Amino acid sequence: MSDQGILVVVSGFSGAGKGTLMRALLEKYHNYALSVSATTRQPREGETDGKDYFFVSQEKFKQMIEEEQLIEYAQYVNHYYGTPKEYVLRQMAEGKDVILEIEIQGALAIKRQFSNALLLFVLPPSAQELKRRLVGRGTESLDVIEARLRRAFDEAEGMDSYDYILVNDDVDACVEDMHELIKAQHLRVCHNLDFIEQIREELKHV
Ligand code: 5GP
Repeated sequence: MSDQGILVVVSGFSGAGKGTLMRALLEKYHNYALSVSATTRQPREGETDGKDYFFVSQEKFKQMIEEEQLIEYAQYVNHYYGTPKEYVLRQMAEGKDVILEIEIQGALAIKRQFSNALLLFVLPPSAQELKRRLVGRGTESLDVIEARLRRAFDEAEGMDSYDYILVNDDVDACVEDMHELIKAQHLRVCHNLDFIEQIREELKHV
């Protein structure tokens, strides 16, 4: 079977609980590597450079694009976000499954380059619950919450391109679903062509 790790893209509406889900997954299972993106936005309180993001200037970001250091990048609300290539490829080569928590344009760019990537979309149990969580978080003004809900409406249009949805009702159950889906992805024929070829060769000589 293939020793190569796979790429797992996780997208979802703001407030759907992606962050909580990722933390719980990485705490429970240790064969996952979380990619750290580069961004031109300012750090939020409590965010650390190199851990949450690589916070870079516009110039540096442009340079990274020119030098083809990013696998994909996208603009999201006036700022650039992109996935550094080197880390992702190295972790995959070492057999780790690499998780990219990115928005939809980036997800589609990944699918074009890595047809075996697994695309997951995290949903809240209902739109009402999404609003309740965003209000309950208390970190955004009502205007911002409404803008995020409108954005969720737009993003819902692109969900057809994803492989599976994850309904984040119960975090532990959702972590299990995600882990099982990744395990199943490893068993897909498209991910095991070398192994299948090897068996075919062996069959010629038994
Ligand atoms: P935030 O500013 O809230 O941390 O992130 C804003 C959006 O950018 C989120 O939807 C997040 O998933 C997305 N994002 C973070 N890193 C990347 C990246 O490297 N590439 C792309 N395409 N989107 C990203």
